[in-house]
Order: sequence, then C-alpha cells, then structure tokens
Amino acid sequence: MRLEEIETPVAALAGVGPTASSALAALEVFTVGDLLAHYPRDWDDRTERVLIASYDEAARQGKRVHTIAQVTGHRWFGGPPPGTGFASGGRRATLKIRVTDGYVEADLVAFNRPFLEKSLPVGAVIGLTGDFSWRYGGIQSTAFDTLLITRSGRLSDYTPGAVPGSEVFPVYPLTAGLSQVQLRKWIRQALARYGRGIEGDVPPALLDKRKLLPKQDALRAVHQSASLAEAHRGRESLIYEELFRFQEAIVRRTLERRGIRTGPDRVDDLSPRQQKLLEALPFALTVDQQRVIAELNADIDRTSAMARLLQGDVGSGKTLAAFFAILRVIDSGGQAALLAPTEILARQHGETAARFLDTAGVRLAYLTGNVKSRARGTLLKALAAGDVDLAIGTHALFSRQVRYKNLRLAVIDEQHRFGVLQRNAIIEKGRDSAGERPPHFLMMSATPIPRTLALTVFGDLEVSTIATLPSGRLPIKTYLARMGNEQKVYDFVRRELSAGHQAYFVYPRIEEGEGDEAGSPDAPLKSAEEMFRKIGAEIYPGIPAALVHSKVDEEDQHRALTDFREGRIKILVATSVVEVGVDNPNATCMVIEHADRFGLAALHQLRGRVGRGSLQSHCFLVYSTALKDDGIARMKALRSTTDGFVIAEEDLRLRGPGEVAGIQQSGYLTLGIADPIRDAAVMALAREDVLEIMQNT
Ligand code: ADP
Ligand code: MG
Repeated sequence: MRLEEIETPVAALAGVGPTASSALAALEVFTVGDLLAHYPRDWDDRTERVLIASYDEAARQGKRVHTIAQVTGHRWFGGPPPGTGFASGGRRATLKIRVTDGYVEADLVAFNRPFLEKSLPVGAVIGLTGDFSWRYGGIQSTAFDTLLITRSGRLSDYTPGAVPGSEVFPVYPLTAGLSQVQLRKWIRQALARYGRGIEGDVPPALLDKRKLLPKQDALRAVHQSASLAEAHRGRESLIYEELFRFQEAIVRRTLERRGIRTGPDRVDDLSPRQQKLLEALPFALTVDQQRVIAELNADIDRTSAMARLLQGDVGSGKTLAAFFAILRVIDSGGQAALLAPTEILARQHGETAARFLDTAGVRLAYLTGNVKSRARGTLLKALAAGDVDLAIGTHALFSRQVRYKNLRLAVIDEQHRFGVLQRNAIIEKGRDSAGERPPHFLMMSATPIPRTLALTVFGDLEVSTIATLPSGRLPIKTYLARMGNEQKVYDFVRRELSAGHQAYFVYPRIEEGEGDEAGSPDAPLKSAEEMFRKIGAEIYPGIPAALVHSKVDEEDQHRALTDFREGRIKILVATSVVEVGVDNPNATCMVIEHADRFGLAALHQLRGRVGRGSLQSHCFLVYSTALKDDGIARMKALRSTTDGFVIAEEDLRLRGPGEVAGIQQSGYLTLGIADPIRDAAVMALAREDVLEIMQNT
C-alpha cells in the first residue's frame, strides 16, 4: 500500500479527539497517511552526553547540554518563597536549583515552575537536558528538561552510565493547539498500527544503486530512529523519492510533446525569407546562433507545438534568432506575435524588426495599450484577416478583442519579467486566439534563472542556449566605488564622453524623498530627477542629456531613447527602466549609483546595456559606505564575472530563491520534504535516473 492510500481518518488514533483533529487539519493532516507524511523539520539529538562545562562549544554546534547531575541546593529570588506568604502586589519568587554534574556547578532558573522544589529535592540525581549560558557570574539555564533518576543517591553511582531519555526526538512543524509531545505520541502509534507494508515509488534496483532506504524503513527512520545518522538517511531517501516523482512527471510531459521530426535540422536549410535576412545581415551569425536557429527550425517543422526557452546572456543576440523563427513561420503561411514586457522594449523591437525584416517582405503591426482606437480597429481587422504577418507589442497582443487568422508562433521576450502566472495566462490566451492548433511558443530570457533551478521551473520546456557573445566584443570592465568617490567616476566618464562615446547614469528612484527610510545610512537617496538636473548644471554642463523613467510621458521616453541611440543625446539619466531593451553600441559607460539597492540580476542586466559593440566598455557600481560584508560580496561577485549564469547562481546563494527575479510567484517551487535549491544535486540525479528508466522501456 502507498502512503496516500492510508485513508483512515486521524480520529481513529487513540488520543485524537475532535479538537486535535481540527488542529491537525490546519496542518493539512486529515488521514493517517497524511500524518505519517508529516515529516520532522529537525531532530533533537539526545543520545550523546554533553557536560555542563562544554555548554558554549555545544551551543555553537547547535547542541544542548545533556548529562546526569545532582541537585545540591534551592534558592528563591525576586520575592518571598511560597509558604511564607505573598508580598502585596503578588510578585512571586522564582526557584533557582543548583546542580552539579561532578565537574562544574550551574543554576536552573525555574520560572513558573515552583513545584520543582518538591519534585527535585536536594540530593536528587537527575537526567538533565538544556540550553546553558553565562549570566550573572555563573552558568545558568532557563530552558531545561529534567528526568528524575532517584530522589536521593550518589552521583558517582550513575556516571558515566547512559543518560536517561537518550533518544533522537523528531521536531515537527506545529500549529496552534498542538505540542511536540502529542505529535510524537500519535505518529508513533500510527507507525505501530499502520506502518507495515508501505510501498514507495522508487524501483528497488534504483534504491540499491543510490543506497537509499525503502519507503517503509525511511518513514521509520525519520519518525523514530536510534541515531541521527539513521534519521538523516531516512530523510535523504524521502527527498530522493519526491524528486524522482517530480522528474517522472516532467520527463513524461516532455516526451509526450515530442512529435516526429519532419524537417532537417541543419542551418543551411533556410526558408526563402530566412535566406534573405541572412544575406542582408551586416555581420555573420555566431556559431551558437546558428545552432539555435537549427533547433528552432526543427521544432517549427514538427507537427506538435514547440515549447522552448531560449536563454542567452544580455547582448548575445537572441532577438535575431527569434526573427529567424518568425520568418520560417511566415514562409509557411502562418502569423507570429512578438511580446515584450514594456512599451519601450516593444517599440524598440518594432524598429529593429522594421530594419531587419522589411527586406524580407514582412507585413508588421505594432500594438500596445497606447495604440489609439481608430488605428487599433484597422489593425485588429488586419490581424483577423491575415493581412499582418508579425504583430509586435505588449500583453495587449493577447487581450480579449485580438483575433489572429492563423497564429503559429508566439515569442515572449524577457519572459522572466512576466512571472509564472501571467506567463501561463498569456500562453492560454495565445492558444485561444489561435483557434484549433496551439501555436509554437518561444520564451526568451537573459538567464536570470540559475541552472540549478532551470530543471525545476522549466523542467518541461526544451532549452536552447546562446552561450557566447558575438565576436569582437571586449569584456566589460567593472569597478566598485564607495559613495564619496563619485568624483573620480565622473572624471573617468568625462574622458569617455570627450572621446565621442555615450553614458548611462542609473538611480534607484525617480524623485527626491521617495523611498527614503528614516535613519538609513545612505539617505537621502539620489534620484534620477535630481541627478539629471545636477548633471546638466554642474557635472557635465553643455553635454546633451535626457531623462527616462516610468513617469516620463511615453512619447518623450521614446524620443529620448531614439536621440540617445542616434547620438544626439550623450548622457541618459534613468531608473532601472533601461534594464531591458536599450541597444546602443556606442554607449561605453554605465554608472549605477546606490548599486547596493539593486538585485544582482538587475545589475547584471543594466551592465549589459554597455559592451554591445566593439568598444571597450566600463561599468561603475557606486555603493553605500554602510554596506556590510555580504553586500560587498555581492558587488564583488558582479565585478569578478560577466557570466549571467554564474551571477544568477550567486544571487540565489546570497539571497535565497524567493528573491530571484521571476520565480517569486512560482508555484512550481513548492514541494514537500525536498527543496529544489538545497537539493539541486539530488534533483539532477533523479532526473538522470528517470531518463534512463524511460529510455529503456
Ligand atoms: P539580447 O540577447 O540581449 O536580446 P540582442 O538580440 O538585443 O541581444 O542583440 C544585441 C546586439 O547584438 C544587437 O545590436 C544585435 O544587432 C547585435 N548582434 C546580434 N547578433 C550578432 C552577431 N552575430 N554579430 C554581431 N552583432 C550581433
Ligand atoms: Mg533582448
């Protein structure tokens, strides 16, 4: 029987009444099977003797004192002792029990436990477990448990024998109205009554290969084990099983989607429009781009819908690869949609497409929330009639009124900016608006998802990677500067500007005052507005600059970006809106002030705005003087590599998965006992094993 099949309600266990049942329900525990799958979050190892004298060392290792001791005295403090009458105002005295383990003495401060005076009389020998620390000139504990061995005896008769209560106690996640003691009792009972004949999902041969416990033994090990090592082994076995099941589902989905290859996958097999584009390019495709285009071609030629993630670092040329896919779809009589997370980026794509795709005879349309109603009506008609080949825009592309005649490919750029839920909604709408056959999906991302997570989050997507930048690019030089040293940075940039190059200045907020926290060491934060004025008036007077942030009118933003790209504007002062899309190979400086206010992934994206041509580029991270070690470690991580994968991993390691861009809303990450980040290595093993099994059957 499998654990999920034990459907006996928990109320069947002795001691579980209606109150307990509803408390357990809050933990999503309804059946005995659920209860057995309520795994400990930790264990309290009370198998090893830890003497009082080593309390400090023990605490550092997360252990507690665990020894046999003798009670040598009682004292009361903070009020009159019980029995002698209470002082008015009712302050009750607290009992202090003096103990020794034969080596050193310590005090047990028995807050609210006056009864211990009777149950632990002077002379008693006890088992003692507790957290100790140095206070008021002595070793003390306020958090301790005792177990009476004898009310009167000689300590030496009991040492160094086993300390009573020496067990590995599971520590469970709790909820209001439940105690560890109760859960331990019920789970032990459940194990005894229902714990036999439980089967797991991992084939026995694999258990052998990976040296794991069968399910039934693993359950016993985590809930009731004689040693910590055994408990851990049980836990590892359960983690593996969970990830094995997870990967099984993903791999199955992947295999199901795999259609029959109908087309050759060499890049020399180009459709007519693809061929035209290739001939019109002012540069050669990189090897990676060629491979990716071949992969996309093969997918597009298949009967089943493509679901592919194209990852590649900032500036690696993903857009061009996507254009090739778009052209192939158009050549086969279909329509394509290219979706961007922001208006700025959508617009930029519109212009790039006009530049690259016009020669290939592509009928383009541009659609965002801002396209006004008249133009919109015409456009929607053209889309529905099939008079448009490629629609470029924001999520408006998939709003309700939009109908396509034959949508065959949807490209989602910077997909991580959409979040999992929004992305799923887009995919669903894409399917709807396409009619019977779901379109191919291509998602693009500048690798904000670390490799260790990719399998989890994108486990059922095919992944293509552009790992190398176009040749002739010089690696960007990154410099760290503490606040106060900005002048040196400004001077450096001045030299670049006089050499005819351009620069970005990025700030964490739009206006003064916004986001300032009282008492924050870097307050007041510099803002884009304020620095735009200062740059024009004091720092670089006479050099044309423009301001871009989300509160600037869209037309003005667009004009600023165009002027910047075409060289009429030399300095672009901005917030992180320029994180995606802006493409100006002549910009060689990226100055980010209050850099510590941005996430690593965002900093990496921002830095990717420079170094897009053959010129040597520079990135300056100006950080707060109050920045602590771990913050400085983040800045240094960025300086030491320009590899987006490495940075994403580092971001993950330093900040934890919740913070990493694009996966916050990811429901994919909730598993039971396994943690896809911590257990990434096990995940990879499980995937390997699943693939091997599925390929051999
Ligand atoms: P990203 O992968 O960040 O979306 P883009 O597609 O915006 O990168 O490309 C960055 C820049 O590199 C663009 O200006 C693009 O025209 C250029 N580019 C793309 N492919 C090549 C190539 N093979 N050789 C040289 N430049 C290229
Ligand atoms: Mg891009």
